[in-house]
Amino acid sequence: MVSISTAINEVNLSLETATPQEVLRWAVKMYGEKLAVVTSFQPTGLVILHMLSEIAPQTQVLTLDTGLLFAETYAHMDAIEQRFDLRLKRVRPELSVDEQENMHGAALWISNPDRCCNMRKVVPLQSALTGYDAWITGLRRDQSDGRANTPIVAWDERNQRAKISPLATWTEAMVWTYIEAYEIPYNPLHDQDYPTIGCVPCTQAVENSDNLRGGRWAGRGKTECGIHTQ
Ligand code: SF4
Repeated sequence: MVSISTAINEVNLSLETATPQEVLRWAVKMYGEKLAVVTSFQPTGLVILHMLSEIAPQTQVLTLDTGLLFAETYAHMDAIEQRFDLRLKRVRPELSVDEQENMHGAALWISNPDRCCNMRKVVPLQSALTGYDAWITGLRRDQSDGRANTPIVAWDERNQRAKISPLATWTEAMVWTYIEAYEIPYNPLHDQDYPTIGCVPCTQAVENSDNLRGGRWAGRGKTECGIHTQ
């Protein structure tokens, strides 16, 4: 009997040259109601939401609201929710920011950012994905060295479900061309030298936009929050 990870690898090979829309149609057909999109409403996620609005607009959308996002991000999220009439669930951590400070000390994102990300992102996402067989992400190969080998479809060992990255082969320029072509509203912070945007304490503007994720956890030796690492 073929293992699920072997089967996923075979599908991945067949989807390597598919368009993102073809990947999304395959995912919708394969997983139906058991499919969820996880997005932070950044450019790649916006492209995916726009494509899904034409393919399967009722797909469940999950976003991680850590309680530490920029005001611009919250406003942008509201605008996109309205524009695409999203079936959106804002996934929040068990502890509020104040409760976390009382229990684990001030600025855990400085003293132990891995623990902070684990409590505010990784564990809440694991819980939110319960009941889903597959999740769609906005990972792209050009975003960082660590993402250079991102498959279109992979078996997510930690969450024990399929993980689909329809835009894995797209570049930053292709994403922005799409956003401009369809006049999709984007987070205004992108026009202020923030190539990627996460929590306020861990995101800063960068002048060298060649390093797309250079403004995340800058100087802390951390490049991923943990939801995309096994
Ligand atoms: Fe905490 Fe920073 Fe991770 Fe947000 S990105 S959960 S503030 S460590």
